Amino acid sequence: MDCIFCKIVKGEIPCAKIYEDKEFLAFLSIGPVNKGHTLVIPKEHSKNLFDFPKAEESDLVEFLKKVADAVVKGTGADGFNLSLNNGKAAGQLVFHTHFHIIPRFNNDGLKSWPEEGYINNEEMEDYRKKISDSLD
Ligand code: AMP
Ligand code: ZN
Repeated sequence: MDCIFCKIVKGEIPCAKIYEDKEFLAFLSIGPVNKGHTLVIPKEHSKNLFDFPKAEESDLVEFLKKVADAVVKGTGADGFNLSLNNGKAAGQLVFHTHFHIIPRFNNDGLKSWPEEGYINNEEMEDYRKKISDSLD
């Protein structure tokens, strides 16, 4: 598998490791949004969240919380963003499922998402229905 994060899991490429257990690995991103920006990856390859095995889902939340707590305490952050870029259109560059834990500081100057808004309530209802009707 020619995947950079799989190579990190196998120790073929070095990483600044924070923590690991049987299923997951946490390490510093080489391109931090803020210093301490940490990535959490499942050790088993999956390309994105839809591909991620159900059996590992509950363990993942526990792992993320443990690492996020350490990121906040270790950097002295005031909060954190947890994000996942799912697909190229969303900014995913590495196609091995990974979560970003980004420490945030009061007045760090980073902007959150711009709000587009809906034209009117009918348009909002249209989106609500399209998404709701698409649930499997
Ligand atoms: P994404 O755009 O969601 O796919 O994010 C990819 C992330 O992986 C970015 O934060 C990159 O800085 C980070 N990254 C890429 N290669 C490495 C690497 N070898 N070690 C650590 N972080 C990496
Ligand atoms: Zn991989």
